Amino acid sequence: MVKHSSRIELKQSAYKSNVNFIRKKIGEKPILSSVVKANAYGHGIESFVPMAEKCGINHFCVASSFEAEQVLSVCKPESQILIMGIIYEEDLEWAVAHDIAFFVYYFDRLPKALEAAKKVGKKAKIHLEVETGANRTGMNAKEFPKSIAYLKKNEDWLVFEGLCTHFGGAESFSNQFKIDRQHKKYKEFLRQCKEKKFMPQLRHIACSAAALAMKDTVYDLVRIGVAQYGFWPSPDIYFSHLHETNKKSDTSLKRIFSWKTDVMDIREVDKGEFIGYGTAFQATQKMTIAVLPLGYSNGYPRALSNRGQVLIRGKKAPIVGLINMNLFMVDISHIPGVQVGEEVVLIGRQNNNVINVSSFTNVTQLLNNEMLSRLPAAIPRTVVR
Ligand SMILES: *Cc1c(COP(=O)(O)O)cnc(C)c1O
Repeated sequence: MVKHSSRIELKQSAYKSNVNFIRKKIGEKPILSSVVKANAYGHGIESFVPMAEKCGINHFCVASSFEAEQVLSVCKPESQILIMGIIYEEDLEWAVAHDIAFFVYYFDRLPKALEAAKKVGKKAKIHLEVETGANRTGMNAKEFPKSIAYLKKNEDWLVFEGLCTHFGGAESFSNQFKIDRQHKKYKEFLRQCKEKKFMPQLRHIACSAAALAMKDTVYDLVRIGVAQYGFWPSPDIYFSHLHETNKKSDTSLKRIFSWKTDVMDIREVDKGEFIGYGTAFQATQKMTIAVLPLGYSNGYPRALSNRGQVLIRGKKAPIVGLINMNLFMVDISHIPGVQVGEEVVLIGRQNNNVINVSSFTNVTQLLNNEMLSRLPAAIPRTVVR
């Protein structure tokens, strides 16, 4: 295999520590489902899933049947997969055949699931997702009684594996009234199940923010995305944790991700010369410039032109000029002795310096999740200790 122009490393020890931290918050009993949609928030499903399994995770949530297939191709046979989003009708049989559970958010999906189950000769694992106030997917209250009746009637083929909902904005305490309302509506659905003496195996509503800051939202399973990757879901959730633990700061959640490349070329530039395209950067003195072999087509935001920094020999090297499609340049005048082929850290730590995802997202207005999840799947991901 020839080398790619950059690489991503996942730090297993940091991940393990995140899992332990989340586990402490939610208690021993609930299933900790790892949300690996969007290529594991950019971390790379292929490398991330086996690493998570080594850290004791055996349940994965994805956004589509396509992603479920990616997980299936790398996970242990005993690991569970749950599709929270799109699954096309023609893929229902495939899901059932592979014991993949899925959200059902309107009644008409149930007869189709039944049909698929009978055809495959296996039970379909159904998670009824109910509408509680987020108004994206979610079964409305009107269809619910008929849906549980249908599940009950067809118990031989349909498993009522889950009853779930998703909070629209548990990250921000200014939304608390809405989250409370959603939780209350969820309990109303649960009450109906109790009344019919037909309970789901797994009740689940908590995402990272809810699981970390709202203990009463932790039922039988939690769906944890952002926090397992070492990011606090929001300042609100971080400060609520500090308040709860009476601390001034906390490093329990650790970034597991680093992004690296190598110096491709080094050149001297005279005072007055322009660097790269256009006139975006003009050398104010004689400068030493390192050329790096990636650009915006590789996920490095163009908005960091003339603004971002990378690490070389543990020192910050500022970007000079525009981020090109496959190249950009950094100033290394203040870092003596740099050689072609030397390691460059784009995100992560080198010696005593660090570049955080947030230093990107502050400039680009992207969400951390957005920045990471957009990193091209083609960048190789490897697991390090
Ligand atoms: C993405 C997602 C999650 C995980 O959210 P985080 O805030 O990253 O923990 C949980 N549930 C559903 C339905 C989601 O789409």
